[in-house]
Amino acid sequence: MEKQELFTKMDRLEKELGVLFADFGDLKSKLIELLEENQRLSIENQQLRKLLKREEAYTEGLGAPKLATEAVAASAGVSAGAKPAPIPAGEGYDNLARLYYEGFHICNVHYGHLRTEGDCLFCISFLNK
Ligand SMILES: [Zn+2]
Repeated sequence: MEKQELFTKMDRLEKELGVLFADFGDLKSKLIELLEENQRLSIENQQLRKLLKREEAYTEGLGAPKLATEAVAASAGVSAGAKPAPIPAGEGYDNLARLYYEGFHICNVHYGHLRTEGDCLFCISFLNK
């Protein structure tokens, strides 16, 4: 292989690696977005299920026929803008602790974002309160 040819080939490889590196960066950002969205949706789903259960219990208590679709519609309406149902203090703490150990921030600085750099001092001080 001629020296010039070798250099040209190295140069081309370097450029291709640069493009590949940038693509990896983009994919990593996209993955972080998806993981955060997934976590948000899991929490919303959990809250909707709780609401649905409560609605069903209430409906059964009234002796009215159980209409699951109405409960779903009601809970979906609540999730659209209203505050989530109040959670007992102990349960709320457990949920936050679980969220943290699943790799997400629970501090008010980066709440809900993926912890990409290990432990967060803000989160830890919040957990220790
Ligand atoms: Zn944090």
